[in-house]
Amino acid sequence: MPVTPGSQKYQGESGRTRATDRAARRFAALPADFTFTVDVEEHGTPGRAAPATRRLLDLLDAAGARGTFFVLDAMVRQDPALVREVARRGHEVACHGYDHRPLADQGPATFRTGTLAARDRMADLLGAPPAGFRAPYFSLTPDAAWAPAILAEAGFAYSSSLLPAWSPLAGWPGAPRRPFLWPGGVLELPVPVGRVGPLLLPFLGGMYLRWLPPWRLSTLVRSWVAENGGGHLWSYCHPYDVDPGEGLVRRADAGLVGSVMLWLNRGPTVPRLEGLLRGRRSEPFATYLPALRAAATVWHPEPATGSLRAATVG
Ligand SMILES: [Zn+2]
Repeated sequence: MPVTPGSQKYQGESGRTRATDRAARRFAALPADFTFTVDVEEHGTPGRAAPATRRLLDLLDAAGARGTFFVLDAMVRQDPALVREVARRGHEVACHGYDHRPLADQGPATFRTGTLAARDRMADLLGAPPAGFRAPYFSLTPDAAWAPAILAEAGFAYSSSLLPAWSPLAGWPGAPRRPFLWPGGVLELPVPVGRVGPLLLPFLGGMYLRWLPPWRLSTLVRSWVAENGGGHLWSYCHPYDVDPGEGLVRRADAGLVGSVMLWLNRGPTVPRLEGLLRGRRSEPFATYLPALRAAATVWHPEPATGSLRAATVG
């Protein structure tokens, strides 16, 4: 059917374009280079992650952008063709772990076994082991201070697993907000956060990107630029963030209110991501690693907050 002004399709498209334009203006002050990242996992309805991931791949193709996809081991087992397609379309494939539970709940032994298995499966599939790792829920917290040593042992060059702020789910308040090195040599790329009063919020990802009102998003952009200037920026999202057609899923890890928030308001994600991509260049983390590593210094967590004394690796 031809698309003519006044038709529902036309209005939908033009409404989305206007939303993208508004988002692009809101993000205009951010740096021209960044990394678009995706955590590839099912939300709750099996089979929905693959088409939604392809929607994100198309979005990146349309913008001439490349990103880093952190893939959960369950997705590698379930849909190896999708993982190969992500790599074939020019993106970096990295590891989102074996077990989608917070690291502290897994404990060092389970985390080590699972991470090595996930790494090996990915290496078998793609011909080389992944360079990057992202913890579920950014759960590299003081209770999981043993994890970077295991990542170093497993050969990961970098981790993108730490939220340097207080958060109801997982965070490490007081951790550096710029990329830093763990004592074992793994480069950590903390989640970019903007400031609202005493709060630091990961404004370029997931539920925050979906739910933050436009004026608040603008405040956070300004505060990130003021505090980080030329620092490396990255965004994150999930396939379900761009899947408005999925029904409500009661997630045991989110409670009822969290499950409803994860379900609703998925519509704004695509225009906001398009606005972020407009006029900006996204390359995988792997591209920026040499420069980020050269600029990073080693961070030794305080035992009181980092509990490194309790580290047991094995
Ligand atoms: Zn995840």
